[in-house]
Amino acid sequence: MTRGQGMTTIGLIGGTSWESTAVYYRLLNEGIRARRGGLHSAEILLHSLDFAPLAARMTAGDWDGVGDVLAASARRLERGGADCVLLCTNTMHKVADCIVAATRLPFLDLVDLTAKTIAGSRSRRPLLLATGFTMEQPFYRERLAKAGLAPIVPGEADRAAVHQIIFAELCRGVVSPQSKERFLEIIVRATEEEGADGVILGCTEIGLLISQADVTLPVFDTTALHVEAALDFALAAESQAA
Ligand code: GLU
Repeated sequence: MTRGQGMTTIGLIGGTSWESTAVYYRLLNEGIRARRGGLHSAEILLHSLDFAPLAARMTAGDWDGVGDVLAASARRLERGGADCVLLCTNTMHKVADCIVAATRLPFLDLVDLTAKTIAGSRSRRPLLLATGFTMEQPFYRERLAKAGLAPIVPGEADRAAVHQIIFAELCRGVVSPQSKERFLEIIVRATEEEGADGVILGCTEIGLLISQADVTLPVFDTTALHVEAALDFALAAESQAA
């Protein structure tokens, strides 16, 4: 097993899609540079998966199959010497238990983290923007509700548009001003008609399209939150070891 140089090695299950995993990679390295200075960069072990067969499994409802792929990936990261595991997608957290069962590594759960962060803010009715799987199935909203939140999801046509923009554009590297407008229109509608008081970018690609600078409500970007948690984990583990 090849270990790093004394730094905590952050394990990433990525490629889901790689457009957002590239953002994780950049933000993790920028975060270590900001905190440690000089030429420091993050120790990362990335297993980047082929997204097409995983997307096909999700569409077919084969979540057990998705869980098996993620479990195998987590085991590879453990064998490779990672000190923790991050799954770089919100949607597949539906089967995150498969990762937890597969390794002894600490799993930095993105849904828990998002719920905890929002519960600690003033937002109680956040608008959840995510894939159709995440907006429509209960696994994500239930965990937000458990944290005392009352998440809002867009209506059917808006959900379909968000899902389509994620898979047909953002996951393929297409970032268009029209799609940005569409997202902003959905946010305004949820604010005016449903009383949304925050916006969850509950898909790791959405930050490619919109950010806090575009929206007056507080924005919770799950990619950025996940990266911050990984940096905290890595630096806390190192200060304990020192
Ligand atoms: N990365 C996205 C997410 O955070 C969507 C792609 C996927 O289904 O993994 O949910």
